[in-house]
Amino acid sequence: MAHRKIKVGRVTVHIVDDGQVWTDAGGLFGLVPKRLWSRFVTADAENRLPTALRCLVIESQGQRILVDTGYGDKMTPRVREILGLGPDQRDRLLHSLAEAGFGPEDIDIVLNTHLHADHCGGNTRPSEGPDSPLVPPFPRATYWVQRWELADASFPDERTRGTYFSENFQPLAQAGQLRVVDGDVWLTDEVRAWVTPGHTRSHQCVVIESEGESAIFLGDAVPWAILLERLAWVPAYDVEPLVSIRTKKQIIAWATHYHARLIFQHDPEVDVGTLVASDGKWIVRHLPE
Ligand SMILES: [Zn+2]
Repeated sequence: MAHRKIKVGRVTVHIVDDGQVWTDAGGLFGLVPKRLWSRFVTADAENRLPTALRCLVIESQGQRILVDTGYGDKMTPRVREILGLGPDQRDRLLHSLAEAGFGPEDIDIVLNTHLHADHCGGNTRPSEGPDSPLVPPFPRATYWVQRWELADASFPDERTRGTYFSENFQPLAQAGQLRVVDGDVWLTDEVRAWVTPGHTRSHQCVVIESEGESAIFLGDAVPWAILLERLAWVPAYDVEPLVSIRTKKQIIAWATHYHARLIFQHDPEVDVGTLVASDGKWIVRHLPE
């Protein structure tokens, strides 16, 4: 598991991960012909792409904010196999957090960018005991979820039923640890959630701004760097593809104005990057450690 730490002004951002899974390239590239995307990205023999599951711990003003919780371990053995997760690859996020120096009780806030299974699967886990009820593994944390995201996840349709699972959020409410927020919201004076719709109706990115520096965790608004360079390339997963394009334009306008660092959640190569102008276009330059 990787652990990378960056400073944004006074804020410390730890990039931790829930491991890596394999996902079908059709989901990421949607309508884009393989002839085009395969010039930039290599799929395996089954047309799958390696997919990072990055999460953040943001330390700001005494708060430790965990952004997203990965896939967790509640999936069936069949789904586990499809994702390429071995039976021994369990508690990946908790191990990454431990490597970064955090125990579960250290987390004050968990913020979910949205409630798709690869972003909130680690929100809950079976407890010890006879019936092993699902409980939040972060005992002190309040979990912040957007109101419309919770509504859409609570009443999934034929298309979203395969990724919205109540086991990932209902136990939070039962434990009294769920905080429903509505629209853009400040977590501290330096950290805010920015509603960036398209992938889902109220997907949220996380913006960090301190002492003139800024960074954004893009979540699934822009899961891979190449999708920021090509506005028309929109994942098949997105429920409102035209809104996704508008959101990407807004992110580019903000990020170039403030010279922000971009943190990508799923790109296996580019974890942190920045936008630079090249031949009248914006391209993402990787900022390696
Ligand atoms: Zn995702």
